[in-house]
Amino acid sequence: MNAPESHPERSSGKQAGMQTMRGWLRHLHDTGRLACARPGVALEYELAAIAKRLGGEQAVLFPSPGGHPMPVVSGLVASRAWIAEAMGVTPARLLERYLNAAEHPLPWREIADAPAQQVCVDAVDIRTLLPVPTHSEHDSGPYITAGLVIARNPQTGRQNVSINRIQVDSARRMALLILPRHLHAFFQAAESRGEPLPVAVVIGVDLLTLLASQAVVPIDHDELEIAGALQGAPLEVVKCLTSEVRVPAHAEIVIEGRLLPGVRESEGPFGEFPKYYSPRDDREVIEIDCVTHRRDPVYHTIVPAEIEHLLLGAIPREATILAHLKRSFPEVLDVHLSAGGVSRYHLYVQLRKRGEGQPKNVICAAFGAHYDIKHVYVVDDDVDIHVPEQVEWAVATRFQADRDLVLVAGAQGSILDPSTDNGIGAKLGFDATRPTQYAEHQFTRVRIPGEDSVDLQQALQPADPSIIERLFGHP
Ligand code: MN
Repeated sequence: MNAPESHPERSSGKQAGMQTMRGWLRHLHDTGRLACARPGVALEYELAAIAKRLGGEQAVLFPSPGGHPMPVVSGLVASRAWIAEAMGVTPARLLERYLNAAEHPLPWREIADAPAQQVCVDAVDIRTLLPVPTHSEHDSGPYITAGLVIARNPQTGRQNVSINRIQVDSARRMALLILPRHLHAFFQAAESRGEPLPVAVVIGVDLLTLLASQAVVPIDHDELEIAGALQGAPLEVVKCLTSEVRVPAHAEIVIEGRLLPGVRESEGPFGEFPKYYSPRDDREVIEIDCVTHRRDPVYHTIVPAEIEHLLLGAIPREATILAHLKRSFPEVLDVHLSAGGVSRYHLYVQLRKRGEGQPKNVICAAFGAHYDIKHVYVVDDDVDIHVPEQVEWAVATRFQADRDLVLVAGAQGSILDPSTDNGIGAKLGFDATRPTQYAEHQFTRVRIPGEDSVDLQQALQPADPSIIERLFGHP
């Protein structure tokens, strides 16, 4: 696979025509990063299994999955470099660019004729209209996993965007998980008056809009405005046919409906981001009013807990955590939520340490940055925090447990971490930095001059057969 590291010459995804999902897919195809499955791959398990195996390498297009006329795609992002590419920056500037967009949102622009409304379907059976895959072994059935749920605050009219898992098991009703955040607050306000909350579930948007939907910003900060800032131009939106909700005008599919007051139905189990199942429970329900879509729409699914899912969560969180830490510690250079820590639980912090003790203060601040953070590793600026082996090396050689460990018992953690007591658990911090003062070379990392800069194209050539024969021809 030949993923370009970055395209610094490109100043934004807009210029490259990547502000739609199909524009991005076209770009992936043209650069050899879109695999195509044989037609008719099964929607139950087989599609997700193939996408999972290709995760981190290629996106995949599935023509007529399960015999359904609508194709499915998965794996719109395989690495941080792909995200940086869509943003038009180098990977090193990715978090800075994201934070800048989150802090300087761009109001969207409403248009009348939207591709997302080229076709309108009223008499919907969602189970057959869309090719919704079943992903994991013990899932209750098919799930929409890449649906942006968009709603308006009934009090202020400001919109919110979130990705919620949505179970598809009846014709016009879908139960979903709503965590106690912004959408939840909007629905509570409506439900307390006995009213439904109009929502749209948008499937098939570009990579930057997906990333924007995961921004960690306060209530009434419209994530679609962050999408516009990331794209470098106002996002084009269109009004839903049955409500006041505005949705991305170039989306592939829009499900319009209402969250029903006083209604809860069985949802789950479902394999979630920590690679464990979230149990069945009674949850909120959307009743569908209509579905609009583009001509020849493409359905997007995200395989839960795999690289696409993890990266979409990691980048916005890293950006927020980095800003949080830098406010108190300008010496913090970079942060990374490692994939092994499900891009939520393990935080690596790169620090230009100014004095003894400082890493422990950084650890304590990191615990406060997000309740999901469970283990924090602080390392020096000679450690690449995007290479887990290097962080492990720092722990192996610069850390002593009796001296460098920070332990906090009984703190708030992730309720999806099955080792916690219903979300209550321990926090652990590792100061894996070297002392600021040390004897000559005691903590100097071994390096070979030229190891990073040597030009292998210049240094190597095809082996001369006569040399091989002379040296190794007579074992
Ligand atoms: Mn929000």
